[in-house]
Amino acid sequence: MNKPSPIKKTGYKQLSLIKKLAILLLMVIVLFIGIGTLLQTKLEQTQSILNDLTFNTIPAMTNANQSAIKSSELLSALELLTSSNTPVERRIAEFEVNKKLNETQEQANKASYSQNEFHLLKTIQEEMNNLNRLIDTKLDVAEQITKKRKELAELKYKTDSMYKEHIGQTPLDEMQKTKWNMTFLELMMLVYEVGSTVKLNELRDIQHTIELELSHLDSISEETSPALKAQLLPLNTAIINLLIREQGLLALQENHLKMIGRARGREHFIRNLISDYSNITNQFSLNKNQYLKDKILTLSNGVYTQEAWFVGGFILLAAMICTILALYTHAIKRLRILTRRIHNMTAEPVTSHSSKDEIDELFHAFDQFSDTINTQNQRLKTLSLTDSLTNIANRRAFDQRLAYELSSDRVIQTDLSVVLIDVDFFKQYNDTYGHASGDEALQKIAMMLSHTIQSSTNMIARCGGEEFVAILPNKTAKEANLVAQHIMQAINLANIKHSMSKISDRITISLGVATRIKGEVSDIDTLMKKADIALYYSKNQGRNRATHIDDIEEVQDN
Ligand code: GH3
Ligand code: MG
Ligand code: MG
Repeated sequence: MNKPSPIKKTGYKQLSLIKKLAILLLMVIVLFIGIGTLLQTKLEQTQSILNDLTFNTIPAMTNANQSAIKSSELLSALELLTSSNTPVERRIAEFEVNKKLNETQEQANKASYSQNEFHLLKTIQEEMNNLNRLIDTKLDVAEQITKKRKELAELKYKTDSMYKEHIGQTPLDEMQKTKWNMTFLELMMLVYEVGSTVKLNELRDIQHTIELELSHLDSISEETSPALKAQLLPLNTAIINLLIREQGLLALQENHLKMIGRARGREHFIRNLISDYSNITNQFSLNKNQYLKDKILTLSNGVYTQEAWFVGGFILLAAMICTILALYTHAIKRLRILTRRIHNMTAEPVTSHSSKDEIDELFHAFDQFSDTINTQNQRLKTLSLTDSLTNIANRRAFDQRLAYELSSDRVIQTDLSVVLIDVDFFKQYNDTYGHASGDEALQKIAMMLSHTIQSSTNMIARCGGEEFVAILPNKTAKEANLVAQHIMQAINLANIKHSMSKISDRITISLGVATRIKGEVSDIDTLMKKADIALYYSKNQGRNRATHIDDIEEVQDN
């Protein structure tokens, strides 16, 4: 005999398809949320970097570049100031310097530099003011120099006219006067040289020559007539005063040269300051530039990472969705096979219904299958309780019914009778007419019995071979005897020919009746035994009769 194969046990507990799908779906959702959150974070980071670049770094860089431009404009203004030769030019340059200084200051405010830069700007401003004052003084001195030159020129003009007035004096005077004029002319030449001198030592050399010329002028004057001398000496004094005294031309020129030198020095200093400022702003701009580069690098790296995450996530997502689809398709395929098998099992045509999907179809198939099983169960149940030859209840059904009727939970309020029926000489019938005719006779007898006693409460069953039994609930012994008589009459009326019967020419039956009276407790065996005794009694008494067990007992008692 083939043993049923044991259910294969794997090492681990297999997950159901629904659980697999649910887990995958959950993973897809988690992955979705994960990728979404990551992209959102990256996007926010990018946004913040862009904001920083837009609102801080780029404006700061622009300001730093503007500051550098302002520095160079400031240098130009400084140039204008130092090169100004007239008070008007100086004032224009001063205006320009102040304007550029203000603009630079404003730019610095916008660029939000540190204290150092503002301190530097302040120093530049102070130094500019100092330089402006110095230039102003230098121009003042230059003006005085011009004035002195003018005075000298006027003096020359005066001596020239005086020269003409003294025509007709002594020849010595004439000669001396010519010498004096020549010397004065030389002095004038030297004065022009003074104007073009740019070095202090050269100026001192010229001053020495001028002093020599002046003493020469004096000695010439000494050798003239008293009248001429009286005219020349005041002129000599005036020339000396104009040239070499405290506020003379030479002193002024020396002062002028010194101021030029100082102005140059200050200009140089200011240039250095501006250059420092420009370097700082350039450095600031470079720093910002570097910061910008770094940020852009971070940004582009971020974009690459984002891209990688996105692609990776997408591939994973696609893989998961494909797996879900594959599992789903696999499940649907199995559902279809299952549905087909169920239909095959029911062996009934598939009833048409508007199924929405495979699960719906499977549901209907199961429904149909369940109906079929129920019907078959019912059929089997009926078959198991029905006698196949006669189609009336069998022994099993009889036992169940009698057990029920006798059970203790039934209220024993009425009598209950059983009638045992046995066909007489049936062996001979079979022997005479054949087994098939015997079967037909049994079917006819069963039909007659059914018609006679069947009601909603009574029951007739074939309890084996040619024996039948009737359960008559609510029937007293008397009533049961009456039913037995009716049964005998019915069989008699059936008129089934039996030539080999020893007591009649047709089939007859013998009956044994037993009654469980109201209030009495009895079991199947006891009751059936009584009925059997009664039947046995009928047989012994010559057959074709009915006997109640109580009647036998009465006979025996008598
Ligand atoms: P008695 O009057 O003493 O009852 O005699 P009998 O021949 O009826 O009794 P016995 O017990 O000797 O024989 C019963 C016969 O019933 C034997 C058997 O061939 C026949 N029989 C039992 N079951 C069936 C059946 O299903 N079909 C047919 N055709 N005959 C059956
Ligand atoms: Mg028998
Ligand atoms: Mg018999």
